[in-house]
Amino acid sequence: MSDNYLHLVPSDPRWQPDAAAAEKAVEIARPLFPQAEHVSVEYKEGVTFFDAGANTESIHCAFCGSDLEDWWGGAMDEAAASDFTDLAVVTPCCGKSTSLNDLRYVWPAAFGTCALTVVNPAATSLDADQLQGIEQAIGSPLRVVWQHL
Ligand SMILES: [Zn+2]
Repeated sequence: MSDNYLHLVPSDPRWQPDAAAAEKAVEIARPLFPQAEHVSVEYKEGVTFFDAGANTESIHCAFCGSDLEDWWGGAMDEAAASDFTDLAVVTPCCGKSTSLNDLRYVWPAAFGTCALTVVNPAATSLDADQLQGIEQAIGSPLRVVWQHL
């Protein structure tokens, strides 16, 4: 049996909400996913890569659109060696300075030290206004990662 997760990851990989903001965000998110098994904010010990799992199709340069899949594995290994404390990279295709967090992941993925996670949300989409309500409660813009394992 496979599992689906919705991870809402703060746009700044190091940012974390305080306990009150996290609780409020969960209160807002829970009724949006009445069939979900679990809704909570999970804190990680270090920067973690929340990927789309089996949904992952491709990774492209956000500047020129080049396919970066072959290069990306090595870049991830290098960043992992420093526990993802440094996500800065220079794109191999067009030589631009950017972050591993700002490549074009299809489906979307994000780095973070925490995420509001919905386990088996049943839903497969989140409306912009619903997302905005959660962002306001938690106090940060959020990246939406639909992970299929
Ligand atoms: Zn490029």
